[in-house]
Amino acid sequence: MTDLDLDQYRRRLEEERARLTHTAAFLERENPGSLEDELGEIAAGTDNHLGDLATATYDRELDEGLEEGVQQAVVDIDAALQKIEEGSYGTCEVCGEPIGAERLSAIPWARLCIDDQRRRDG
Ligand SMILES: [Zn+2]
Repeated sequence: MTDLDLDQYRRRLEEERARLTHTAAFLERENPGSLEDELGEIAAGTDNHLGDLATATYDRELDEGLEEGVQQAVVDIDAALQKIEEGSYGTCEVCGEPIGAERLSAIPWARLCIDDQRRRDG
């Protein structure tokens, strides 16, 4: 293990997790219904246009993408917190090398070293 300040990373991870959880709750409040409900409301309106339908679909896709991103980030943060407990925090999941303090400062929930992340991203 390295000389990483684990308490500092743990704090940052917990703060970020709280923020994301808040965002997820907000998104759920914003979009309690299904897309069918939204389209139904528009179709039931008197001044419905195709443009409104397209906008509703587009907004929905954006929100779902955002929700997925938030959920994935919480998963990554939980994994990072777990690794702090296990003493394996800061180690690349692929090659086992240290991820590096600089990268962890930017992305405390990083699971891969920069080389493996680039390989995975293609
Ligand atoms: Zn690696």
